[in-house]
Amino acid sequence: MSIIDGKQIAKDLRQSIKSQVDNLNRAPGLAVILVGDDPASAVYVRNKDNACKEVGFYSEKIDKPADITQEELLSEIKRLNTDDRIDGILVQLPLPNHLDTNLVIETISPEKDVDGFHSENIGKLMQNKPYLRPCTPKGVMTMLATIGVDIVGKDCVVVGASNIVGRPMAMELLNAGATVTICHSRTQDLPGKLKLADIVVVAVGIPQMIKGEWIKDGAIVIDVGINRLDSGKLVGDVDFESTKDIASWITPVPGGVGPMTIATLLENTLSSCKEKI
Ligand code: NAD
Repeated sequence: MSIIDGKQIAKDLRQSIKSQVDNLNRAPGLAVILVGDDPASAVYVRNKDNACKEVGFYSEKIDKPADITQEELLSEIKRLNTDDRIDGILVQLPLPNHLDTNLVIETISPEKDVDGFHSENIGKLMQNKPYLRPCTPKGVMTMLATIGVDIVGKDCVVVGASNIVGRPMAMELLNAGATVTICHSRTQDLPGKLKLADIVVVAVGIPQMIKGEWIKDGAIVIDVGINRLDSGKLVGDVDFESTKDIASWITPVPGGVGPMTIATLLENTLSSCKEKI
């Protein structure tokens, strides 16, 4: 078994981004909007802001109160859509219940939608003409490329069908030439389906749900899940101990997919900037 070192791959990606930024005539700009004071969201936003500074981006961290109106939030996004210093706009999810998440995403200009969640960008991914691609699945593709896997013709199982991870992940693998099965909470015989997979990507949100005995010998296992146990320990959706000696490659949690997501956000912001200058 080999570990896919997401921390190192993300570090190399950030280094490459930084050196490209040094050669541009202006810094790429990212605006991150945080609504309310959810502590986990605040940590994510701070990490994104710090990552921007590290690679020499211009960054705006915009804090809004939890009771902001829909109109106020949309007009903030519209202001950023026309701000020439800003190449990427990200609204940290989840939003408070009174706000329409879908409308918020659709208000972001598709050219600045560095999360890749706008229906126009999702549509382009579906058509295999991708523009800005969702960060976590794109980061997984970077990891697979780094370890040198030939994806063409491989049997892949994606467990989880969310809009932000599972669905775009399945499209990424399909676009790369794989045969893809998407499993979800209503799937029958998940272990039987996993047993046939050369590449497994799991994004479910249930700690250590996927057992090593379900995995085919030599498969590549990518664990997107991030779950905190009562003990405080962070674990993935894959039972690492029972899987590590069966998989040929496996991502750890933490230090696997997590760091790739932010590095890919920077990558998207850089490419959005390059489109404009
Ligand atoms: P979600 O809750 O939106 O979707 C979960 C998916 O899992 C659903 O499609 C559901 O049908 C499926 N599911 C639930 N129970 C199942 C079961 N028993 N068997 C098979 N499928 C089942 O979750 P999400 O936003 O996609 O996130 C999933 C996990 O990935 C979470 O742990 C989240 O924290 C993590 N995550 C990590 C990153 C990262 O950067 N590493 C990014 C996003 C999400």
